[in-house]
Amino acid sequence: MNFEIIDFHTHPFLRRETNICQHIDNCNMSAEETVNVFGKLGVSKICGSVISVRPNDKKNNWQEIKRNNDEALELWKMYGDFYVPGFHVHPGYLEESFAEIERMDKLGVKLIGELVPYLDGWKWSDYAGDSFSELLREAGKRNMVVSFHSGGNDDMDKMVKNHKDVVFVAAHPGEYGDFMRHIERMKMSENYYLDLSGYGMFRYGMLRRAIDEFGADRILFGSDYPTCHPGMYIGGVLLDNLLTDSEKEKIFSLNAKKLLGL
Ligand SMILES: [Zn+2]
Repeated sequence: MNFEIIDFHTHPFLRRETNICQHIDNCNMSAEETVNVFGKLGVSKICGSVISVRPNDKKNNWQEIKRNNDEALELWKMYGDFYVPGFHVHPGYLEESFAEIERMDKLGVKLIGELVPYLDGWKWSDYAGDSFSELLREAGKRNMVVSFHSGGNDDMDKMVKNHKDVVFVAAHPGEYGDFMRHIERMKMSENYYLDLSGYGMFRYGMLRRAIDEFGADRILFGSDYPTCHPGMYIGGVLLDNLLTDSEKEKIFSLNAKKLLGL
Protein backbone atom coordinates (compact mmCIF):
# COMPACT_ATOMS: atom_id res chain seq x y z
CA MET A 1 0.00 0.00 0.00
CA ASN A 2 1.19 3.46 -0.91
CA PHE A 3 0.66 5.87 1.97
CA GLU A 4 0.35 9.60 1.77
CA ILE A 5 2.55 11.01 4.51
CA ILE A 6 2.18 14.29 6.40
CA ASP A 7 4.92 15.15 8.88
CA PHE A 8 3.07 17.00 11.63
CA HIS A 9 6.17 17.84 13.62
CA THR A 10 9.03 19.68 11.89
CA HIS A 11 11.04 22.87 12.41
CA PRO A 12 11.85 24.26 8.98
CA PHE A 13 14.51 26.94 8.68
CA LEU A 14 15.86 29.67 6.45
CA ARG A 15 18.93 30.63 8.45
CA ARG A 16 21.74 28.72 10.14
CA GLU A 17 20.50 30.12 13.48
CA THR A 18 17.15 28.40 13.04
CA ASN A 19 18.50 25.07 11.82
CA ILE A 20 18.46 22.83 14.89
CA CYS A 21 20.30 19.89 13.28
CA GLN A 22 23.26 18.87 15.44
CA HIS A 23 25.29 17.73 12.43
CA ILE A 24 24.64 20.73 10.25
CA ASP A 25 28.18 20.87 8.80
CA ASN A 26 27.93 17.35 7.46
CA CYS A 27 24.53 17.56 5.82
CA ASN A 28 24.57 20.20 3.08
CA MET A 29 21.30 21.71 4.24
CA SER A 30 19.16 24.55 2.91
CA ALA A 31 15.52 25.57 2.82
CA GLU A 32 15.35 24.35 -0.79
CA GLU A 33 17.03 21.05 0.07
CA THR A 34 14.38 20.42 2.76
CA VAL A 35 11.80 19.90 0.02
CA ASN A 36 14.04 17.31 -1.66
CA VAL A 37 14.71 15.47 1.59
CA PHE A 38 10.99 15.01 2.23
CA GLY A 39 10.14 14.45 -1.44
CA LYS A 40 12.50 11.46 -1.63
CA LEU A 41 10.86 9.99 1.46
CA GLY A 42 7.35 10.37 0.03
CA VAL A 43 6.28 13.09 2.48
CA SER A 44 3.87 15.51 0.81
CA LYS A 45 3.46 18.06 3.57
CA ILE A 46 5.24 19.28 6.69
CA CYS A 47 3.93 21.28 9.65
CA GLY A 48 5.48 23.17 12.54
CA SER A 49 7.21 26.20 13.98
CA VAL A 50 10.57 27.86 13.40
CA ILE A 51 12.78 27.67 16.48
CA SER A 52 16.31 28.60 17.36
CA VAL A 53 18.66 27.26 19.96
CA ARG A 54 19.69 30.33 21.92
CA PRO A 55 22.45 30.91 24.40
CA ASN A 56 21.05 31.37 27.92
CA ASP A 57 21.39 35.16 27.96
CA LYS A 58 19.38 35.44 24.76
CA LYS A 59 16.35 33.53 26.02
CA ASN A 60 13.18 35.31 27.03
CA ASN A 61 13.41 37.59 24.08
CA TRP A 62 10.16 38.39 22.30
CA GLN A 63 11.91 39.99 19.33
CA GLU A 64 13.66 36.72 18.54
CA ILE A 65 10.40 34.77 18.86
CA LYS A 66 8.63 37.25 16.57
CA ARG A 67 11.47 36.97 14.07
CA ASN A 68 11.10 33.18 14.04
CA ASN A 69 7.34 33.53 13.54
CA ASP A 70 8.00 35.88 10.62
CA GLU A 71 10.43 33.33 9.21
CA ALA A 72 7.67 30.70 9.34
CA LEU A 73 5.49 33.03 7.23
CA GLU A 74 8.34 33.57 4.80
CA LEU A 75 8.81 29.82 4.44
CA TRP A 76 5.07 29.46 3.90
CA LYS A 77 5.31 31.88 0.98
CA MET A 78 8.24 29.95 -0.42
CA TYR A 79 6.81 26.43 0.12
CA GLY A 80 3.12 27.05 -0.51
CA ASP A 81 0.94 23.99 0.14
CA PHE A 82 3.93 21.91 1.15
CA TYR A 83 4.07 23.68 4.53
CA VAL A 84 1.56 24.33 7.32
CA PRO A 85 3.17 27.04 9.46
CA GLY A 86 3.02 27.07 13.24
CA PHE A 87 3.92 29.99 15.49
CA HIS A 88 5.11 30.66 19.02
CA VAL A 89 3.49 32.49 21.90
CA HIS A 90 5.06 33.16 25.31
CA PRO A 91 3.20 33.43 28.65
CA GLY A 92 5.73 36.06 29.80
CA TYR A 93 4.71 38.31 26.88
CA LEU A 94 0.95 38.21 27.11
CA GLU A 95 0.07 41.35 25.20
CA GLU A 96 2.49 40.51 22.40
CA SER A 97 1.23 36.92 22.26
CA PHE A 98 -2.42 38.00 22.01
CA ALA A 99 -1.47 40.31 19.15
CA GLU A 100 0.41 37.46 17.48
CA ILE A 101 -2.60 35.12 17.78
CA GLU A 102 -4.76 37.82 16.20
CA ARG A 103 -2.24 38.46 13.39
CA MET A 104 -1.82 34.77 12.58
CA ASP A 105 -5.56 34.07 12.71
CA LYS A 106 -6.13 36.83 10.14
CA LEU A 107 -3.55 35.19 7.89
CA GLY A 108 -5.25 31.81 8.25
CA VAL A 109 -2.57 30.24 10.45
CA LYS A 110 -4.29 27.87 12.88
CA LEU A 111 -1.36 26.00 14.38
CA ILE A 112 0.40 27.17 17.54
CA GLY A 113 3.75 25.39 18.06
CA GLU A 114 5.38 23.13 18.53
CA LEU A 115 5.96 25.29 21.59
CA VAL A 116 9.32 24.58 23.21
CA PRO A 117 9.37 26.44 26.55
CA TYR A 118 12.99 25.64 27.43
CA LEU A 119 14.21 27.26 24.22
CA ASP A 120 12.08 30.38 24.64
CA GLY A 121 12.81 31.02 28.32
CA TRP A 122 9.68 29.73 30.08
CA LYS A 123 9.04 26.72 32.29
CA TRP A 124 7.01 23.50 32.32
CA SER A 125 5.12 24.88 35.32
CA ASP A 126 3.84 27.68 33.08
CA TYR A 127 1.71 25.07 31.28
CA ALA A 128 -0.58 25.11 34.31
CA GLY A 129 -0.17 28.83 35.04
CA ASP A 130 -2.69 31.67 34.70
CA SER A 131 -0.94 33.51 31.86
CA PHE A 132 -0.66 30.51 29.59
CA SER A 133 -4.23 29.64 30.51
CA GLU A 134 -5.37 32.99 29.09
CA LEU A 135 -3.57 32.26 25.84
CA LEU A 136 -5.11 28.78 25.68
CA ARG A 137 -8.59 30.22 26.13
CA GLU A 138 -7.94 32.55 23.21
CA ALA A 139 -6.57 29.69 21.09
CA GLY A 140 -9.68 27.65 21.92
CA LYS A 141 -12.00 30.48 20.93
CA ARG A 142 -10.27 30.70 17.57
CA ASN A 143 -10.23 26.92 16.99
CA MET A 144 -6.47 26.79 16.91
CA VAL A 145 -4.45 23.62 17.45
CA VAL A 146 -1.83 23.82 20.22
CA SER A 147 1.21 21.62 19.71
CA PHE A 148 3.59 21.51 22.68
CA HIS A 149 6.78 19.82 23.83
CA SER A 150 6.04 17.28 26.57
CA GLY A 151 7.40 18.25 29.97
CA GLY A 152 6.13 18.30 33.54
CA ASN A 153 3.51 15.53 33.74
CA ASP A 154 1.53 17.08 36.61
CA ASP A 155 1.52 20.48 34.90
CA MET A 156 0.34 18.95 31.62
CA ASP A 157 -2.41 17.13 33.54
CA LYS A 158 -3.67 20.42 34.99
CA MET A 159 -3.46 22.18 31.64
CA VAL A 160 -5.52 19.52 29.91
CA LYS A 161 -8.07 19.24 32.73
CA ASN A 162 -8.58 23.02 32.71
CA HIS A 163 -8.94 23.25 28.93
CA LYS A 164 -10.86 20.26 27.64
CA ASP A 165 -12.16 22.30 24.73
CA VAL A 166 -8.66 23.16 23.48
CA VAL A 167 -7.16 20.84 20.88
CA PHE A 168 -3.72 19.78 22.12
CA VAL A 169 -1.06 17.82 20.31
CA ALA A 170 1.56 16.54 22.74
CA ALA A 171 4.93 15.97 21.12
CA HIS A 172 7.07 12.93 21.91
CA PRO A 173 5.64 9.70 23.41
CA GLY A 174 8.71 9.45 25.67
CA GLU A 175 9.89 6.50 27.72
CA TYR A 176 7.50 4.12 29.49
CA GLY A 177 6.52 6.29 32.47
CA ASP A 178 5.88 9.42 30.42
CA PHE A 179 4.09 7.46 27.72
CA MET A 180 1.69 5.96 30.27
CA ARG A 181 0.92 9.48 31.51
CA HIS A 182 0.10 10.49 27.91
CA ILE A 183 -2.35 7.59 27.80
CA GLU A 184 -4.03 8.88 30.97
CA ARG A 185 -4.39 12.34 29.40
CA MET A 186 -5.78 10.79 26.22
CA LYS A 187 -8.54 9.45 28.43
CA MET A 188 -8.94 12.79 30.21
CA SER A 189 -9.76 14.74 27.05
CA GLU A 190 -11.01 13.76 23.62
CA ASN A 191 -9.12 16.76 22.27
CA TYR A 192 -5.71 15.42 23.28
CA TYR A 193 -3.54 14.04 20.47
CA LEU A 194 -0.05 12.56 20.47
CA ASP A 195 2.60 13.03 17.79
CA LEU A 196 5.25 10.34 17.37
CA SER A 197 8.34 12.53 16.98
CA GLY A 198 11.38 12.33 19.22
CA TYR A 199 11.71 9.70 21.95
CA GLY A 200 9.61 6.63 22.45
CA MET A 201 8.54 5.09 19.19
CA PHE A 202 11.42 2.63 18.98
CA ARG A 203 10.01 0.58 21.88
CA TYR A 204 8.47 -2.61 20.51
CA GLY A 205 4.69 -2.59 20.84
CA MET A 206 4.45 1.07 21.85
CA LEU A 207 2.19 1.99 18.94
CA ARG A 208 0.07 -1.16 19.31
CA ARG A 209 -0.51 -0.34 22.95
CA ALA A 210 -1.43 3.27 22.15
CA ILE A 211 -4.01 2.15 19.60
CA ASP A 212 -5.39 -0.57 21.88
CA GLU A 213 -5.83 2.00 24.66
CA PHE A 214 -7.43 4.90 22.78
CA GLY A 215 -7.81 3.98 19.13
CA ALA A 216 -5.90 5.11 16.05
CA ASP A 217 -7.64 8.45 15.49
CA ARG A 218 -5.50 10.66 17.73
CA ILE A 219 -1.99 9.64 16.80
CA LEU A 220 -0.09 11.83 14.36
CA PHE A 221 3.02 11.03 12.39
CA GLY A 222 5.87 13.40 13.25
CA SER A 223 9.66 13.36 13.07
CA ASP A 224 11.10 16.57 14.58
CA TYR A 225 13.21 17.23 11.48
CA PRO A 226 15.92 18.56 11.28
CA THR A 227 16.97 17.38 14.72
CA CYS A 228 15.74 13.83 13.89
CA HIS A 229 15.70 11.86 10.64
CA PRO A 230 12.17 11.46 9.22
CA GLY A 231 13.21 8.21 7.52
CA MET A 232 13.56 6.50 10.87
CA TYR A 233 10.05 7.44 11.92
CA ILE A 234 8.54 6.48 8.58
CA GLY A 235 10.15 3.07 8.94
CA GLY A 236 8.86 2.82 12.50
CA VAL A 237 5.26 3.10 11.34
CA LEU A 238 5.51 1.53 7.89
CA LEU A 239 7.35 -1.60 9.03
CA ASP A 240 5.44 -2.13 12.26
CA ASN A 241 4.06 -5.66 11.89
CA LEU A 242 1.61 -5.06 14.75
CA LEU A 243 -0.38 -2.40 12.83
CA THR A 244 -2.99 -2.75 10.10
CA ASP A 245 -2.82 -0.74 6.88
CA SER A 246 -5.85 1.29 7.86
CA GLU A 247 -4.20 2.20 11.18
CA LYS A 248 -1.04 3.23 9.34
CA GLU A 249 -3.06 5.34 6.93
CA LYS A 250 -4.70 7.23 9.80
CA ILE A 251 -1.38 7.87 11.51
CA PHE A 252 0.47 8.90 8.35
CA SER A 253 -2.05 11.41 7.01
CA LEU A 254 -5.78 10.96 7.65
CA ASN A 255 -5.70 12.17 11.27
CA ALA A 256 -3.61 15.24 10.43
CA LYS A 257 -5.90 16.12 7.53
CA LYS A 258 -8.96 15.95 9.73
CA LEU A 259 -7.30 17.91 12.52
CA LEU A 260 -5.98 20.70 10.28
CA GLY A 261 -8.92 20.74 7.92
CA LEU A 262 -6.77 19.90 4.89
ZN1 LIG B 1 10.19 19.75 18.02
